[in-house]
Amino acid sequence: MGLRIGVAGAGLVGRLAALALARAEHEVTMFEASDSLSPKSSEPRAAAWTSAGMLSPIAEMETGGSAVRQLGERSLHLWQEIDAHLCAHAKTSSALNSGVGLQLQDSLMVCHGSDLGSAQRVLRLLDGDSARVIKLAADETAALAPGLKTGLHCWRLIGEGHLYPALAMQNLATAVPQVRWRFGEPVLGLTPGCMQLRHGAESFDWVIDARGVGAAREVPVRGVRGEVIVLAAPGFQLHRAVRLLHPRWRVYIVPRPDGQLVIGATEIESEDRSPISVQSTMELLSAAFSIFPSLAEARILWTDVNLRPATPDNLPWVDTEKGLLRLNGMFRHGWLLAPAVIEKALSDANLC
Ligand SMILES: Cc1cc2nc3c(=O)[nH]c(=O)nc-3n(C[C@H](O)[C@H](O)[C@H](O)COP(=O)(O)OP(=O)(O)OC[C@H]3O[C@@H](n4cnc5c(N)ncnc54)[C@H](O)[C@@H]3O)c2cc1C
Repeated sequence: MGLRIGVAGAGLVGRLAALALARAEHEVTMFEASDSLSPKSSEPRAAAWTSAGMLSPIAEMETGGSAVRQLGERSLHLWQEIDAHLCAHAKTSSALNSGVGLQLQDSLMVCHGSDLGSAQRVLRLLDGDSARVIKLAADETAALAPGLKTGLHCWRLIGEGHLYPALAMQNLATAVPQVRWRFGEPVLGLTPGCMQLRHGAESFDWVIDARGVGAAREVPVRGVRGEVIVLAAPGFQLHRAVRLLHPRWRVYIVPRPDGQLVIGATEIESEDRSPISVQSTMELLSAAFSIFPSLAEARILWTDVNLRPATPDNLPWVDTEKGLLRLNGMFRHGWLLAPAVIEKALSDANLC
């Protein structure tokens, strides 16, 4: 007989934890402040909905070091297993609508000739992993990223990839019908085995705090603003994420299965959720246009803003006492790190 487990927060971490716990035959109840499974972008919602979904254990070493690399490599393996599990349980036969939209065809890193100096600094930080970071010749670059401006320096990061966050969020929820979803129920606080709700307390064998920035009163977590722009670019042939190394801007372009492209993302030390600024719009679009001139005719579909949950050292926060597990601080690496962080945390707590 499984345990009764309450999860606070149906974002990325909450949904992944619920899936793992339900597969281990626990009885899971999920409490979420938003009113629905797929909240509108006009309301505060999980950072996961806004994110680009890049899975970049090599490139993210620049900001997260070797811990991010190790957890990221494990997560890449786990995403393949989760993707297969969700596809097997999907009611639709369309590969486009099942799973997490996982694409593991490597990623590209590019820089303009004038920025080669700062690119070399990043390349040195990437551990000098010559087997996984491969400098491409011009013809190889053109084949992998048609439309990329000629004359750029380009590296292929072997084993990196991306997924489709909106699809993954949807399917992570629908794959676990045995989870009880309680939307529009903000959790006010958690103590071991106890969830504090507006109408009073509810008891469980264990409770899990996965509220992201919503846990700021109990966890040293802050929000870091990130802005993205979504384009429609029909006919644009891009199958892998492209990251621009630039002295001032960290910009990437990630393809979606439906012909859309995500250009992201700013990283601003602010908890402001207001719409994207003119400056960020100009910088993101200019950077993207500087490497893909053919984006001039793409259409801007929408922009989005959200807060990444970050701890003081920008690394994941796992805190366990009997009956209470707190999982937070995935910062800019949630998709990259969460499967491995959750796997270890649930195993250490003897829950999976
Ligand atoms: C612009 C942007 C781009 C990103 N790109 C990438 C990327 O390419 N690759 C990558 O790996 N990561 C990326 N990330 C990071 C990733 O999205 C986050 O690390 C991840 O979503 C954090 O997951 P979480 O579950 O902790 O928080 P969230 O996804 O924010 O979920 C928290 C949930 O808790 C709910 N909640 C809050 N308070 C309460 C309460 N009191 N009671 C009940 N529920 C509550 C919220 O409504 C939400 O549903 C990006 C983030 C942003 C903003």
